[in-house]
Amino acid sequence: MAHSLFALFGNPVSHSKSPLMHNLAFRGLGIDACYTRYQLIDGKKLKEKFFHLGLKGINITVPHKEEAFYACDRLDPFAQKIGVVNTIVEKEGLLYGFNTDAPGFLRAISEFQDIQRVLFLGAGGTAQSTAIILRDAGYEVTLLNRSASRLEKFQQEGFATFTFENFTPQAYDLIVNMTSAGLEDESLPAPKEILQALLPQAKACVDVIYGKNTPFLQLAKAHNKPTKDGSDMLLYQGIIAFEHFSDAQYDFQTIYPHMKRAFDFN
Ligand code: NDP
Repeated sequence: MAHSLFALFGNPVSHSKSPLMHNLAFRGLGIDACYTRYQLIDGKKLKEKFFHLGLKGINITVPHKEEAFYACDRLDPFAQKIGVVNTIVEKEGLLYGFNTDAPGFLRAISEFQDIQRVLFLGAGGTAQSTAIILRDAGYEVTLLNRSASRLEKFQQEGFATFTFENFTPQAYDLIVNMTSAGLEDESLPAPKEILQALLPQAKACVDVIYGKNTPFLQLAKAHNKPTKDGSDMLLYQGIIAFEHFSDAQYDFQTIYPHMKRAFDFN
């Protein structure tokens, strides 16, 4: 991948850590390549822009991960199954699509021991891919969401789903904030009474929002629960994307120390 150009496509892209993460890995591994960001407004132009800019690979963020799926000529089996692509690599003129968010999340939660029953607060795009990879890995996933409409596709896929109105708190080993509640505001992802009933029985809590001590994490810590934010998920999806960019020339452990340095900066 020497002399190659990579990018993040999305809208917005200015806040992203991905350029820093990938450029630190290129530099640390002595690879003459560069990763930039591109604000893509019309997702339908993804393929055209990819080739016009002469790119070798991209990551895709909100709101184009579904459009990226349709832009690919070849899909790996997991991306094919979930219909969401966040990493594309060009090989001999064809675009190969992958999803690295979900395996990144799976790896991030694997440090917690004795986890079987997982409760997702939220049912958006991130919940979709991660619920499926967790179930494939043997976890039992339940979804609790504010609105009923987003739960329909999860019901069709056989997941247990609840809204705040029809939910009775039970014992879950891991509780995950999969919503954007707490990202730009100070709101909790579910009514406090529900969380207060769930937290004493949980073994650990995770928030996919990164770099912030969200109200959900604050509440979990007040119940003395082990917690983690979304930083490891972000780091791990980036490392897995880099493995694809390098066509498996570099493995996870080799990339890790270089990309992790991005999290030393604020
Ligand atoms: P979506 O827009 O697809 O879904 C948003 C979800 O959040 C919905 O379930 C929505 O519920 C719920 N929600 C939003 N606001 C509130 C609120 N105030 N109270 C309760 N529920 C709320 O989002 P994504 O799935 O794309 O992203 C979800 C989160 O994941 C974001 O915070 C994002 O930053 C994070 N993320 C982190 C990554 C990482 O690497 N760490 C990678 C990707 C995403 P409703 O249906 O009722 O509207």
